[in-house]
Amino acid sequence: MIHQTRINAHQKLLSGFRLDGFLVTKLSNIRYLTGFSGTNGICLITNSDAIFISDSRYEQQASQEVSAASIHIGKGFLPEKLKELSCLPDGKNIGLEADSLSYGQFRRLKDLLPGVRWQPQEKLVEQLSISKSEEEIGSIQLAAEFTDKIFLQLIDLIRPGVRECDVAAEILYRFKKMGADNSAFEPIVASGHRSALPHGVASEKEIEEGDLVILDFGCVVNGYASDLTRTVVVGKASDEQRRIYEVVRTAQQSAIQVIRAGISCSELDATARNVIREAGYGEYFGHALGHGLGLEVLGEPRIAAETDSSLPENAVITIEPGIYVPDLGGVRIEDDVVVRVDHAELLTHSSRDLIEIS
Ligand code: ZN
Ligand code: ZN
Repeated sequence: MIHQTRINAHQKLLSGFRLDGFLVTKLSNIRYLTGFSGTNGICLITNSDAIFISDSRYEQQASQEVSAASIHIGKGFLPEKLKELSCLPDGKNIGLEADSLSYGQFRRLKDLLPGVRWQPQEKLVEQLSISKSEEEIGSIQLAAEFTDKIFLQLIDLIRPGVRECDVAAEILYRFKKMGADNSAFEPIVASGHRSALPHGVASEKEIEEGDLVILDFGCVVNGYASDLTRTVVVGKASDEQRRIYEVVRTAQQSAIQVIRAGISCSELDATARNVIREAGYGEYFGHALGHGLGLEVLGEPRIAAETDSSLPENAVITIEPGIYVPDLGGVRIEDDVVVRVDHAELLTHSSRDLIEIS
């Protein structure tokens, strides 16, 4: 039922773009529209039809998961099945996902169906999925609860001499043990000078006394991701570490406070960025304030200065300001929130006080 509603909404969108159909190739979008959770599939949505194609490994799974589209089994390059089914006549305007198809695949597609007028599009299905149903929010909430639990356990685990990769391995293992589908991404564990790398995937570096440690991790439940960052200090925080931490915390809090349905992404980004700039650390906050969260961990919209769109009710986003000072280290605090009519509802609840691990 839910998938039929989503496919209908997508069909409505197509007519607005003057498209006769749309080839969905990005797996998270296929899952959103059809329910299919496997790793190989395509879906063609036309004004009157929805056709799903996978390979024989997924025949049974597709019949269990896919309800609102007809199911076909192909092999090799799946669009060949579309040609076999004659469902793409010459002259039709068919949208495709420019950010999911490789150039090689696009060339094969053009050679296979030369009469079709392929129209590259960006983030079409993603626009539909920004606002979440309560069921989707429930899955993200569960993933967020798992993530909060792991954070508490990490506080006991982190001490001088433990390697970043040991911490990352524990995160992956414990998520699986807890019953999550998977880790949402390769955990970031970045300590000491490495914490100044905004995306410092765990290395073999040992955590040392005095280090700031950025922990950024999340898991997937029912296909939906959580994404949490906390920064802790091993031992007593220096005055500057504490100062940076408080600036980041204030920036995050000020952004969360202004969240409401209809606020523009750029305004939200500016709210946090101004706090950091006024504290004198503007040049050390280089990335966007946050991103959408759902079937994709880095989903739409980007909460950034250049994003003009506004946030709809029930969008789920992250708010994750950071300050990264070369040689000194970095601090990032990230939480997951639901955009409600007049406030933000937090899904992650780990403490945002500065934790000094002794
Ligand atoms: Zn994160
Ligand atoms: Zn994030």
